[in-house]
Amino acid sequence: MSNCIYCEDGEPLSRIMIKICDLDNGKLYLHRDQTHRGRCILALDIHERKITNLPKEKYCRLMADVYAIIQALTEVFHSDKVNILFLGDTAEHMHVHIVPKYKDGKNWGTMFAVNEKEPLYLTEEEYKTIVSKIKSHLA
Ligand SMILES: [Zn+2]
Repeated sequence: MSNCIYCEDGEPLSRIMIKICDLDNGKLYLHRDQTHRGRCILALDIHERKITNLPKEKYCRLMADVYAIIQALTEVFHSDKVNILFLGDTAEHMHVHIVPKYKDGKNWGTMFAVNEKEPLYLTEEEYKTIVSKIKSHLA
């Protein structure tokens, strides 16, 4: 669908996130803000806005991908827990925020900020390293 940042999958999206890989029901991206090390976004593979418009089977398969991502992130980053969040207030394309949390890290015991005031950006080289680590744990 045009005018959808996820469907276009172009420069506006790559300014915010970096593609990691395709999964069975979505595209996995690394969020450029790594305040929470390993923060990802899983975008549904079809343009759909609401969970209630998805067949239950599709929703369950999407959540199976989320489960695999959480396992992979926990193996790679040894996070103490992982937040997942569906919002859908701004982008009209269903996506899941997947945010590892750490006992000695930011927002432990509180909600993370979707748009950090002071995002932690890494070098392209550092992003590449993280992307390949996550990819190898999902294979
Ligand atoms: Zn879309």
